[in-house]
Amino acid sequence: MIKGRRPRLNGRAAASAALLVAVLGFIAGCAPSREFLLKRSTELGEDKNYVRVLLLETTERVSLSSSSRIKISALADRKVHHDGKGGKIYFYPEKVRQPVIVESWNSPLFVNGVPYRGAIELHSRMGRLLVVNVVTMDEYLSGVVPCEISSGWNVEALRAQAVAARSYAYYHIMNGTDPLYDLNATNRSQVYRGAGVETERTNRAVRDTSGQVVAHNNRPILAFFHSTCGGGTVDNDKVWSGQALEYLRGVRCEYCSASPHYSWEDKLTLYEIRHHLGKKYVGVGPITGISFKKDGGRVNHVTIEHKNGIVRLSGNDFRLFFPEKKIKSLSFDAIKTQDGLLLKGRGWGHGVGLCQWGANGMAERKASYDQILRHYYRGTRLMVITGKPRGDSAGKTAGDRRRPFHDARLK
Ligand SMILES: [Zn+2]
Repeated sequence: MIKGRRPRLNGRAAASAALLVAVLGFIAGCAPSREFLLKRSTELGEDKNYVRVLLLETTERVSLSSSSRIKISALADRKVHHDGKGGKIYFYPEKVRQPVIVESWNSPLFVNGVPYRGAIELHSRMGRLLVVNVVTMDEYLSGVVPCEISSGWNVEALRAQAVAARSYAYYHIMNGTDPLYDLNATNRSQVYRGAGVETERTNRAVRDTSGQVVAHNNRPILAFFHSTCGGGTVDNDKVWSGQALEYLRGVRCEYCSASPHYSWEDKLTLYEIRHHLGKKYVGVGPITGISFKKDGGRVNHVTIEHKNGIVRLSGNDFRLFFPEKKIKSLSFDAIKTQDGLLLKGRGWGHGVGLCQWGANGMAERKASYDQILRHYYRGTRLMVITGKPRGDSAGKTAGDRRRPFHDARLK
């Protein structure tokens, strides 16, 4: 774990922070282009190895702090607005009128008290402050893998997860639509919680597989993963609308039976169904009937009859109406009860791509991480992304010296 001390706001830091906020308030500008970011990455010696992660999008003020030097520059021309001792600085959405980059040395930057490697970019858009963490791919993955998988699992499963998460990230870098960031830090993309969650074992799995991605037709794949498939994964187009992807076909999985989510039961009352459905649909009356249609063993269509009409929706939309753990997967049978349904199901998650518990089960049976990945992502192969090599992770390379804000050590 990173042991960065949280800086205190001293009088001088407070004064400079107030000054800085005032200065930023008068700056006008526009968002940097993707070309500019690429050029900047090249100048820093890490072309294509950066990832921009949206940490927050908020109307509230955000604090940035560091126990060592903090530098704040305009993103467009790198004009320095502040360069001095660490402390805590508050940023307000309405006052950041030009995108800025905040860098620190020898310790992580804390965003609202949470430590992050790399630099922080701040953008204001439609009255909201966007806080974007710019980190190298492996620094990013070091804050992803322990959030997505247990760090105590078999090393081959950790490596498989690292490569899947790296592939997913590169896919979004290459296919992203937002000019300001590549990925979200929540489970809308993959969960990333910065430097504070890192563990030695997961960092090693990231390092061991550095640069490796799962590729199909020589491009990184959209490497979906989930907790437990419950016996078999599912075609992506049976869960979500959109193009059927060759490498996201359902496969048998005999390896996830150790998962606590392998089989489950839950009750769903008619009142709950009406209550959650009513959050999206107007005029939902008491539920009078409900039917499920399955494809590939999973519910993919749901028809709900109520006193005022009928609602038809996809299985996935139905599942997402409820709190996260209510309907763990769409692989369930429904049994009618007095006040609703008893669901008997298998697995947890959408069921597309790599089954994490299955990956660990395969690893325990001596499968290597590339065998695991090829099992769940059919027709793929491992490929190495050849950006500027990052060298070792201890901040000793020339590339690292050119990147002063990346010097917090990876274990
Ligand atoms: Zn499985």
